[in-house]
Amino acid sequence: MAEVLVYVDHTDGAVRKPTLELLTLARRIGDPVAVHLGGGADKAAPTLAEYGAVKVLAADAPEFADYLVVPKVDALRAAVEAVSPAAVLLPSSTEGKEIAARLALRIGSGIITDVVDLEAGDEGPVATQSVFAASFTTKSRVSKGVPVITVKPNSAAPETAPAAGEVEQLAVTFGETATGTRVVSRTPRESTGRPELTEAAIVVSGGRGVNGAENFAVIEDLADALGAAVGASRAAVDAGWYPHTHQVGQTGKTVSPQLYVAAGISGAIQHRAGMQTSKTIVAVNKDAEAPIFDLVDYGVVGDLFQVVPQLTEEVKAR
Ligand code: FAD
Repeated sequence: MAEVLVYVDHTDGAVRKPTLELLTLARRIGDPVAVHLGGGADKAAPTLAEYGAVKVLAADAPEFADYLVVPKVDALRAAVEAVSPAAVLLPSSTEGKEIAARLALRIGSGIITDVVDLEAGDEGPVATQSVFAASFTTKSRVSKGVPVITVKPNSAAPETAPAAGEVEQLAVTFGETATGTRVVSRTPRESTGRPELTEAAIVVSGGRGVNGAENFAVIEDLADALGAAVGASRAAVDAGWYPHTHQVGQTGKTVSPQLYVAAGISGAIQHRAGMQTSKTIVAVNKDAEAPIFDLVDYGVVGDLFQVVPQLTEEVKAR
């Protein structure tokens, strides 16, 4: 079976969930080979093997941390030359998409971004994208070179499939441009102790109905009671009530949690584009005609300032 390169998104060897999703999808089109760049490959290897990596190609060098994405592109190019894979899969993160675009250019391949599903095809992997605010899905494949594909988080549920996952060193020669942009400082985002939005099993989001930054405490209280991440509609973000990193929707993040709670959100198509694949959707809205109710599994017509705190108390009491 052909090998499929999977770029490992990690922090010092702690593998992030989107990588496990990529490994799961990769198995549909070949044998996943994980490419781990930077420190921590030995720590990551057992997890990568558990989710089906037949091999881990590892490279560690200060360049990966000290410079922006180009050293990683050089490394992936070396991996492509070493393996001749059926495809290269990366997460659809800001970094993943930049690496993917540069890699595709370097190796003269086609690229498909923001894929939500992937299957094997007679002439190469067939990728599904959700376009025009999720109004249509398209299927496409790369017709030139090794397909470079970025996949949106939460497109597949990670499934284990234990494999060998032995670590092999990958020899990388950095090109002239690798050290073109040096990282001068990193400022970790203040931790809220809540899960990352795109990886959370439960998301509680607030919209214009929350009516003020200070009122987002109501949303956060329910999120904390449920162990959830906090999301926001664009209206709430544009009003400056919550940071853009929490925006859900077409121009925000795509989430697909087990449970999505929308409070004071009307359900505009651009918001739905980012959450409509959630497994169970609950909405609280005082307008019984709000379009979000067309989408929900459970809907509460009422004032969120009465309903949400009651919900929080009920969850806490259990
Ligand atoms: P509104 O549509 O104003 O809805 C507020 C809701 O709150 C209403 O239904 C109201 O009944 C309810 N409400 C008010 N008070 C209460 C209360 N006390 N209790 C209960 N309910 C109450 N939007 C996104 O969310 N994400 C995106 O990524 C995004 N991208 C966009 C990209 C483009 C190109 C465009 C054109 C638009 C985009 N939008 C996006 C904006 C989108 O069209 C909507 O304007 C936005 O989603 C509306 O946010 P909202 O539902 O919070 O506000």
